[in-house]
Amino acid sequence: MTVIVRFAPSPTGLLHIGNIRMALVNWLYARKSSGHVILRLDDTDQERSTDAFANAIQEDLKWLGLSWDQLEKQSNRLADYDAAFQRLKSDGRVYPCFETSEDLEYKRRRAMRSGKPPIYDRASLKLSEDQIEGKLAAGEAPHWRFKLNHSEIAFDDLVRGHVSFDGNNLSDPVLVRADGTYLYMMPSTVDDIDMAVSHVIRGEDHVTNSAIQIQLFEALGAEAPAFAHLSLLTDVAGGGLSKRLGSMSLQQMRRDGIEPMSINSLLAHLGTSDDIAPCHQLQELIDSFDISHFGRAAAKFDPDRLWSLNASLLHETPYDAVGERLKGLELSQANEAFWDAIRPNLRRLEDARIWHAVCFSDICPSIADNDREFMATAKSLLPGEPWDDTTWATWTGAVKEETGRKGKSLFLPLRLALTGLDHGPELKQLLPLIGREFTQNRLSGNPS
Ligand code: GLU
Repeated sequence: MTVIVRFAPSPTGLLHIGNIRMALVNWLYARKSSGHVILRLDDTDQERSTDAFANAIQEDLKWLGLSWDQLEKQSNRLADYDAAFQRLKSDGRVYPCFETSEDLEYKRRRAMRSGKPPIYDRASLKLSEDQIEGKLAAGEAPHWRFKLNHSEIAFDDLVRGHVSFDGNNLSDPVLVRADGTYLYMMPSTVDDIDMAVSHVIRGEDHVTNSAIQIQLFEALGAEAPAFAHLSLLTDVAGGGLSKRLGSMSLQQMRRDGIEPMSINSLLAHLGTSDDIAPCHQLQELIDSFDISHFGRAAAKFDPDRLWSLNASLLHETPYDAVGERLKGLELSQANEAFWDAIRPNLRRLEDARIWHAVCFSDICPSIADNDREFMATAKSLLPGEPWDDTTWATWTGAVKEETGRKGKSLFLPLRLALTGLDHGPELKQLLPLIGREFTQNRLSGNPS
């Protein structure tokens, strides 16, 4: 069987950590089995869907490296939905309803008050032909509900195991609004049928939809695909993702300096018992991916973990993989020696700017007044060029000998004078990059 998956975002907003996870898991599942990936834009909500969001979603997926083999837009498929709806209508599987939203709200509250689940009472299903004709003649526009079979609906979920619902406990879902537009439920099923989707992989907030859609697949003469419902992301405390995190868009993370492979590395295994390690290639994630490793427990999303993966990834990145990007940051002297010196200190690539300035332009040396003499001595002991990564040891050895200083009292003042900072890459590597002239200037308290 060919594996065909779809990632189906609504272009009504930017991709965020939760829906990227679904995109990635679908993608990994398909790529692992040489399957086919459909990107389906659920844009039937014409008022809220925009081309700008549709483009941003595609742009974001490309940035993550998640390619698709087929692009579909629900707005292009309305005729197919009409045909499916007509079929359900002629088979008596949908019925017109005339309740207003206030009526429904009233019924819902009444049910809740009497301790009953708010299941639609099928009042409209009891209307006679004449009553329906009368309402239509009076200009009342119906919405349409799908008549569920009140039987057991069961499926084997690839993540949740055996799942079963009693059709009696489900409300007949509205498929078509009074203005004739379709809600999510039926178009998604029609697409999954027409596009031969084999696996529907999505969040557990869709489990009930799956039960309903299983009946829709049957009613439309199709076999239901396999389902996998992933637990949703929570924050570290186990609560629902806070608004701030939940709405943290991929674009924002990208602007903040997160690397695409940090996101992929984290999300491919979050919610499994697999190790989460920085991976540089999607292929590594494909190789280690197994959907059966996802558990039912909530998956905790910790932004600090993402940042630490980001740092680890950068620390492991060789110059070849990053040289062009450094040029893009206009760091003209960022050669391989520079990169190797600074990469252990990066949290984000942009931090390279700080160290580029330290090595090649002006900084503010920090010298305590009572260290001026020490600096003058240190300056007088600077070895001649050429400098390499043995120069620092040679020089500081001589300074130690001459001044009697050692450890922190020797190294920290030199670091502060040479970089203006009390932390940073190893001076043994920075020193040859800073060079003798800049070093002399800084030891005298001059900016470069
Ligand atoms: N557009 C729906 C959503 O974003 C798709 C759900 C599905 O995967 O069927 O929730």
